[in-house]
Amino acid sequence: MNVLVTGGAGYIGSHAALKLLEVGCDVTVVDDLSCGHIGAIDAIRKVGELHFAEMNFGDVGAIAELLNTRSIDVVMHFAALTYVGESVEQPIRYYQNNTSNAICLFEAMRQAGVKRIVFSSTAATYGIPAQENIPITEDCPQEPINPYGWSKLMVERVLKDQLIAAQSNAEDFAFAALRYFNVAGCDPQSRLGEHHQPETHLIPICLDAALGKLEAVTVFGNDYQTPDGTCIRDYVHIDDLVDAHITVMKSLSNGDGKFYNIGIGKGYSVKNIVDACKEVTSNDFKVHVGSRRSGDPPILQANAKRIQDDLGWTAKYTHIKEIIESAWKWRKANPDGYVQCNNK
Ligand code: UDP
Repeated sequence: MNVLVTGGAGYIGSHAALKLLEVGCDVTVVDDLSCGHIGAIDAIRKVGELHFAEMNFGDVGAIAELLNTRSIDVVMHFAALTYVGESVEQPIRYYQNNTSNAICLFEAMRQAGVKRIVFSSTAATYGIPAQENIPITEDCPQEPINPYGWSKLMVERVLKDQLIAAQSNAEDFAFAALRYFNVAGCDPQSRLGEHHQPETHLIPICLDAALGKLEAVTVFGNDYQTPDGTCIRDYVHIDDLVDAHITVMKSLSNGDGKFYNIGIGKGYSVKNIVDACKEVTSNDFKVHVGSRRSGDPPILQANAKRIQDDLGWTAKYTHIKEIIESAWKWRKANPDGYVQCNNK
């Protein structure tokens, strides 16, 4: 299968590209290196042959040409801006990149006759779920509380309408939108890692504190309606997430419009994560309690039964310590992240 991976130099996209190569796919990566790292591309190329195009996924003409020349069968669309707090401050940038550019990508697919897409959606589309809806199923009402969540939910709507149109014209089309909970951990063989600039995610921040690169970790609020007052999230290992993508990709057939939660169904509070990071790294670090971060729902915990029932996917990594261990292994070996960091 010939797969186009957008955002393939980023954290999730690079792990997906690597695994796609390993399962025998022909992989083309599109990334403009605005957030991704050329070091990730180099690391993937140590494993297999990869076609890399440095371009923005919203460039309709260039993407349509690439889809044609590479004879792409399916697109995995990972490229996106992903900071909840930043999306509250810069909504237009988020809608421009995550929504408008996604529509441009779909137009390029339409022009090139590419009929399959797996889209990275998010649990942020659920907003603040009612207590009775936790753990969250795919049927939970979607009412995002930040522009990031809205920017992804709008793309889900576009894909649904695209499917309706294709069906009414008797055209072949299928998509899946995977609603990720919190993705964490690194390639089990430590060939790839997690390197964001700036880093805002809790686990890498705790690991940087454990390495002494940060003076302290700030807990964003301890006055939530949760057992220890800090936010609860469902952390899924990147290797499991990538497996879910490949499983879903292989299952897609004409007329499918699938929505799947990807999580492990367990919730860990910020405090739990901080404690687990201290334990895994055997390093103590300072922790302060700060104010809440805007756009943060108190609890996001998945019910991922639908993908298990439909496709047999389940998470292999079900304990937070295993997930943190894989992240720690890469971070310890690469304290400055990708050496050939190419952030602009
Ligand atoms: N968090 C925190 N301190 C940090 C970074 C994150 O307390 O320095 C909290 C954040 O408010 C959220 C949880 O940790 O409740 C997970 O945040 P992260 O940014 O890792 O992922 P998100 O849930 O935003 O996708």
